[in-house]
Amino acid sequence: MHKLTGKIRAATKLYYETLFCQFHSHINTNLKHDSSELIKTLATDYSPTNCPICESPQSAKPYIVWKHLEWVKCPSCSGGALSPYTSEVEVKKEDTESTYLNYEKSLDLFMPVAGEKANWLVKNLEDGMEIVELGAGLGLVASIVREAKPAVGYHIIEPNKVFASFLRKRGLSVIEGSAAEVLPVLVEELSQKGKRILFFMDNVLEHIAYPAKLIKELMDISPPGSKILLEVPNEKLLKARYKLQDFIRGNKKPPTFPGHINLFTKKSLTMLCRHMGLSYKIWFNPLRSAAEVKYLTQERELNPLIYAALAIMRLTYIDYLLGVPYHLRAEIIFDEKNENSL
Ligand SMILES: [Zn+2]
Repeated sequence: MHKLTGKIRAATKLYYETLFCQFHSHINTNLKHDSSELIKTLATDYSPTNCPICESPQSAKPYIVWKHLEWVKCPSCSGGALSPYTSEVEVKKEDTESTYLNYEKSLDLFMPVAGEKANWLVKNLEDGMEIVELGAGLGLVASIVREAKPAVGYHIIEPNKVFASFLRKRGLSVIEGSAAEVLPVLVEELSQKGKRILFFMDNVLEHIAYPAKLIKELMDISPPGSKILLEVPNEKLLKARYKLQDFIRGNKKPPTFPGHINLFTKKSLTMLCRHMGLSYKIWFNPLRSAAEVKYLTQERELNPLIYAALAIMRLTYIDYLLGVPYHLRAEIIFDEKNENSL
């Protein structure tokens, strides 16, 4: 299946990495004392001592090499990570701005998928909850939810100024700044108001350094009964899939978006949740409609082969048989028992 277009990739990369770069450096500082151990245990220059997804101490194995990019695989959870485990080079401002203009032209392509995600969020919203979205981009989901639930607080953490200004134009409340700095303050504020939190991370966690640590941190600071809803790309069988995709397409593209510093599979996401003693539900969110492909590719006209592939998947569920539906979704609940589980 098609991946996000280069331009969407560039923009998402920029704003997610801006969002989480300070969080990343904070974690790196904490890990400095482990560096000698690291050199001993890892053959590659992949930097974390433990798997950033399942936190296994087993050494990562070489997985995919594509030009200058390399992903390694965790033998414990079958998830993976970009090696070295660092953010990409900065994207030029003009690239982001042109992407932003492109986004605005493509709003109609985004709406059906945004509508479905907004429904998912609303279904999980309980009395006494407010929503915190990390990296809202254009804020389409936020706008729909706000319209449906005008009395519910919807807080967006979005440090990218271009997106933040777009979000404000749409009348949404945006907090600018790094997640590491603003999240604890916001969560504390909501807790004091007696609110529980519904966190929403829509294709964000694969871009964040040390996702398990982020979830742990959210669990530590959030009032019991808070929830996380998240979607990440399913990267299972990536090595075989990208070669097949290159063959069908007739040209070579990176196996996955180079900003995906974490490669999630159902098993790796499950292990992340299980190791923390979280209450969770994880399931596949497959591609089934042309609207979803148009959203991902921003193409108004799709190749007939895409329609054929969608029809085959709808009929045979072959993607489920192989464990490769396009996205994974998770619902994580911070219930009372988690308070003592760490
Ligand atoms: Zn792992």
